[in-house]
Order: sequence, then C-alpha cells, then structure tokens
Amino acid sequence: MNKIKIGILGATGIVGQNYIKLLQGHPWFEIVDVAASPRSAGKTYENAVKAKWQMPIMIPDSIKDMIVRDVQDFESIPDDLSFVFSAITMPTKEQIKDVEFKYAKKGLPVISNNSAHRQTQDVPMIMGEINHQHADVIPFQQKNRDFNKGGFVVVKPNCSLQSYLTAIYALEVAGHKVDKLIITTLQAVSGAGYPGVPSLDVVDNIVPYIGGEEEKTEREPQKILGKVGEKGIIKDDSIKISATCTRVPVNDGHTACVNMKFKDKVPSEKEIIEIWKNFKSFPQEYDLPFAPKQPVIYLNNIDRPQPKKDRDNDKGMAITVGRLRKDNVFDYKFVALSHNTIRGAAGGSILTAELLKTKGYIK
Ligand code: NAP
Repeated sequence: MNKIKIGILGATGIVGQNYIKLLQGHPWFEIVDVAASPRSAGKTYENAVKAKWQMPIMIPDSIKDMIVRDVQDFESIPDDLSFVFSAITMPTKEQIKDVEFKYAKKGLPVISNNSAHRQTQDVPMIMGEINHQHADVIPFQQKNRDFNKGGFVVVKPNCSLQSYLTAIYALEVAGHKVDKLIITTLQAVSGAGYPGVPSLDVVDNIVPYIGGEEEKTEREPQKILGKVGEKGIIKDDSIKISATCTRVPVNDGHTACVNMKFKDKVPSEKEIIEIWKNFKSFPQEYDLPFAPKQPVIYLNNIDRPQPKKDRDNDKGMAITVGRLRKDNVFDYKFVALSHNTIRGAAGGSILTAELLKTKGYIK
C-alpha cells in the first residue's frame, strides 16, 4: 500500500520528536517533510536537533539526513504532502493561528497541538473517544474561510485534561450526569517542551503554577463536550470545573486528583468501575492503529496509578485510573494518569489523523 505522505511542523521539539518516534512503521502514514524555526532551516535534521534529541531511540535513518524546512517557507512545501501535524512554538498565538490557516489555505489539513486555535469556534478540538462527530464542522470551516483546496485546521486539547476527561465522559454517556469537578494536576516537566523548566526550579520541588494551564483545564472541556452547531461548536458548560495545576519532578505523565459530584442519581463504586472498564468508542470500533484497546484502564492496587509504572499502558495511549473512593464533600474522588507527550500530544493527534482519514477528510 502506498502510504500517505505527511509533514511535521515543529519537528525538532519535544512533541515533534515524539511524532518521529511514534510514526516509525505506521501502517498508513510516512514522514516526508520536517520543518522548524529559521534557526534549524537548511540543516540536516540530525544537525538541527543535536543534543535536544530526547527520545529513547536513535534518530531514524529515514529522517536524520532530511533537510529541515522553515515552517514559514510556504513555497518549499512538497507537492506530495497530504497533511501536516503542527507542534510549533512562536512568540504569539496570532502568529501560530496565521501559519496554520496559511497551510489550510494552501490545501493542507493541519492537525495541531497548539492552543492558538482551541477557542476558534469553527475549529474542532477532537479527542477520538469523546467527540469524533465534531469533525462534521470541517466543511463549514472550509466554506467559511474559503479553504477551497481541501485544507482545514483541527486541534487536540491541552494535555492536562486528557487524564480525566475520558473517564468523566464515559460516566456521562452511561447516563450519570456530572455536576462539579475539583481537579489538582501534577504535571510532568516534558509538558513544558525543551529545555523546559530549569532543573534548579523543579528538582526537589513542586511549582504550584503553570501559566494559562488552569484556564485551559477549566474551559476546554466545555468545547470538547459541546455539540455541532451551524457555525461551529456550541459549548456545553453544564459541568463546573475548578482546577489547580502544578509542575512536579516527573519526566513524562500528567497525574490528576479528581473530586466529582453527580447531578442526580449517584452510581455505586462497582457501577463506575464497570462503566470505565467497558467504555469503548469510535477509535476502538474502527480498530484504528493508534486506538488503545481499552481507553480507560482501572487499577485496583491502592497505590496506583503511578507515572513511572503506568504512563506507557497500551503504548502510552490508554488513560489509567485508580483509587476510586467516597468523598466527604463531593460524591467520589479518584486519581487519573495519562502520558502527556503521547496520549496528550503526538499520539493523540495521530489517532485524530487516523479518525479523519477513516471519515474521508484526509485523502
Ligand atoms: P518545544 O520542545 O519547545 O518545540 C518547539 C518547536 O517549535 C521546535 O521545533 C522549534 O524549532 C519550533 N519553533 C520555535 N520557534 C519557531 C518559530 N519562530 N517558527 C517556527 N517554528 C518555531 O515545544 P513542544 O513541547 O514540542 O510543544 C510544541 C507545541 O505543542 C506547543 O504549542 C505546546 O504547547 C504543545 N503541546 C506540548 C505538549 C507537551 O507535553 N510537551 C503537550 C501538548 C501540547 P527549533 O528547534 O528550530 O527552535
């Protein structure tokens, strides 16, 4: 089978490197283009990334000699690209918005990790197991923005909410509407990109503030849980969320401690665990290559989940939940974990690309 040729914008960063690792041997997609800042442009990938390479594998032979393109050199985009993943940082969100829309205008679907377009109403923010139907907004976006060559922008949400939102959604679709959530995250250092948080700030320490993260954790679920309207996504604010986000000295894996209150009937502990264990959605039904077999894994061990032991469950694509117990103030509390650079970034958006191909939006 001829593979679909793809590019990575921000290929030299932490998320970009994860794409390179995860897409080796992918059955549908093949990397043919790597792009980054003007600092890296014109260099071989190996030369551009140098000591920044953080993956536990060598740079693949198929990538190391590729010449890195400047993300903003639109004339040099290879003709045979079918879509791009975007994982760039730039001084302002407006610059990122502009770059991503320019790729879409050129006819390329953009699947983005960046927060720039997450609140743009006609840009769907997709988590495969929760809102695959939000892809239905794409034709409206193309018409609305005059993207008449097949391009569009789709984003994935912030990594901090990935650990718990699927577990909450599974309860909602099973008929147990959630009313309130209090969430405290313990987020890994790789979430800050490379070089990220200075070691002297985070080793032997916890930093009780991550700029913009609490707002994203509280706002983004409203869009993800929303519905498709005529002009884009209509938000659903029926769950009230209060979040505290902290940075902890863990390499990979964001943990969230969650207290939850239901609207009406409160399910039993046994019912909740059964719902989580049996939850499946579009990626599992279509057996997508990056779909975890069981999206929510519940562990009975009293001291789990732990980042070091559980972040790689089902190739880093499953979320792992544990410690479900009664709460003295709300109804229940539990601990949830997901791999931030895999499920929360590169892997999650590869799953979105597979979903968009299955739905016919990527050719
Ligand atoms: P990173 O390690 O800092 O990498 C940033 C990338 O952007 C590099 O490839 C860099 O290229 C490129 N870049 C920097 N300035 C640029 C410019 N002016 N023009 C074009 N490219 C430029 O960051 P990251 O952690 O991979 O994150 C990338 C994006 O994903 C961010 O928006 C982040 O919020 C989001 N995200 C990250 C995570 C995570 O866990 N890390 C999770 C979810 C979402 P050079 O090497 O040439 O400088």
